[in-house]
Amino acid sequence: METITKDQGEKMDLIYIVEDESDILELLQMEIGAAGYRTLGFERAQVMLEALQSEAPRLIVLDLMLPDIDGLEVCKRLKANAQYKTIPIMMLTARSDLEDKVKGLEYGADDYITKPFEARELIARIKAVIRR
Ligand code: CA
Repeated sequence: METITKDQGEKMDLIYIVEDESDILELLQMEIGAAGYRTLGFERAQVMLEALQSEAPRLIVLDLMLPDIDGLEVCKRLKANAQYKTIPIMMLTARSDLEDKVKGLEYGADDYITKPFEARELIARIKAVIRR
């Protein structure tokens, strides 16, 4: 599933959001859209990977627990791809397990945020990663 929530011209950065829980995906699209970004939401990692070929995003918010491909695996694939490795990845995880966070960063995630998240913190982190 893909949903374009905001499209107000070329100047707005595009952010991909991969999250299989539709309520959370909707919330993320709303919050990130309200912060001035265009968003594309995906409930499946495979669909997101295919969409990369049409328009690469400025950043990817990537849920760790996905039904088709594990978030860590997606992260690993993107960071191993010459064309996509520069796209920052913000890992989204419900796991409070330190092991997973460490793994995410080792697999090349640029930052991570734990669910439940504060929208303001998420936006601040997204902006910080994009500025890097
Ligand atoms: Ca999930």
